Amino acid sequence: MTDRQSRPETHYDVVVAGGGAGGVGAALGAAQAGARVLLVEKYGFLGGAATSSNVLAYCGFFQQGAEPIKAVGGVADLVLDELKALGLDCEPFSSPTTLNWIILLEPEAVKLALDRVLHRHSVDVLLHARVAAATRTADQIEAITIAAMDGRRRVIAEAFVDATGDANLALVAGLPCRTGNDMGHLQAVTGPIRVGGRNKSIPIDRSAIITAFETYNETGAYPSARPDGGIYTEVPRTGDMWWMMYDHALTDLSSESFTEAEQASRAAGYEYVEVLRKHVSGFEDAYLLQTGPQIGIRESRHPPARYELTKEDLLTGRQRSDGVARAAWPIEDHAVPGKPVYESIGGEGFADIPLDCLRAKGIDNLYYAGRTIGADAAAYASIRVMGTAFATGEAAGRAAAN
Ligand SMILES: Cc1cc2nc3c(=O)[nH]c(=O)nc-3n(C[C@H](O)[C@H](O)[C@H](O)COP(=O)(O)OP(=O)(O)OC[C@H]3O[C@@H](n4cnc5c(N)ncnc54)[C@H](O)[C@@H]3O)c2cc1C
Repeated sequence: MTDRQSRPETHYDVVVAGGGAGGVGAALGAAQAGARVLLVEKYGFLGGAATSSNVLAYCGFFQQGAEPIKAVGGVADLVLDELKALGLDCEPFSSPTTLNWIILLEPEAVKLALDRVLHRHSVDVLLHARVAAATRTADQIEAITIAAMDGRRRVIAEAFVDATGDANLALVAGLPCRTGNDMGHLQAVTGPIRVGGRNKSIPIDRSAIITAFETYNETGAYPSARPDGGIYTEVPRTGDMWWMMYDHALTDLSSESFTEAEQASRAAGYEYVEVLRKHVSGFEDAYLLQTGPQIGIRESRHPPARYELTKEDLLTGRQRSDGVARAAWPIEDHAVPGKPVYESIGGEGFADIPLDCLRAKGIDNLYYAGRTIGADAAAYASIRVMGTAFATGEAAGRAAAN
């Protein structure tokens, strides 16, 4: 008997593809609405970019301004509570580089907190399980096929949420997806790294980093596009440095392009830490603690939604009666590697995201969460952050459960 023949089909009310902030939000939202929920994640842990790409800060929980005004609560607060129980303070922290309010993360705590919060809400989780195919009628997904360690299995559900970041469920369901912006241009990928072994009693000296990289960039194999020393903070409870210094222009979504980006980013990370060791006080014994597991992907495919949030919606802080989540993070455009451009949200400091951004065009029982939701190129550069992803996830999960 093959693996496939030995497995009965399984039924759920809601299946969520992807276990990042969007997927966890969706699973919790659907479970709170009373649905029987399955979450499917291709890696061996949850967290999405926070745990797979060293993106160690939640953005989008607060509006910009002198004081942190909360824009996202709901199930995201359950996640923060679990993180606090594991010793993270989860207090709003003003990023020294961008002056926006963020919540600093430690990835092992994130993994465990997400396991726990989903378990408490009776969400079934399958790790090492990739959504590989879908069967559908004209306007519904009937079932998905999951490729897992023990072979393939088919799962039927009333509704599905694509929280894969890369619109992988929409893609296998046959929806036509846009790559990048209207011109097919993708935002830069970045290889965030963790640096261990620094002398924590010596503050990180940005001017020394800048000087060291002026020299490195003249002859080094992987010149950094960030002459300002990049974005860095301390990883909570560790003293490690979280550092975003290597950006890479991604030309397309081919495996060849990703392979090149991953390998260049890894090599750059290694060389950059050597630069710190040689030229920056406090880093004499530093070492590259961690890359990845994968490079940080800002943008890939956009599936068709019933409404695309617009730049105008954000710049005017548009509020609307069909709003289900708030976008509060500024437009943070990385069209050119190493040169992010920020534009603030207008109005009262947030814009409403309507439910139609979370609904697939062409499939009635498919919802989007996180960075798959409908948005034009500029609005996408705001809504993709993880705080907002929890909020769109929760709303997608609740809608899918009804
Ligand atoms: C370099 C960089 C820096 C950033 N900085 C910040 C920051 O400081 N703060 C912030 O809030 N945001 C930041 N962002 C943006 C943010 O990390 C992402 O946009 C965010 O993680 C989106 O959440 P998500 O849940 O939609 O997707 P993801 O976090 O990408 O999660 C998607 C999940 O789906 C899984 N998946 C994919 N395909 C499948 C499949 N076929 N089957 C099963 N599972 C699948 C993936 O493994 C992943 O776990 C940054 C992004 C990058 C790249």
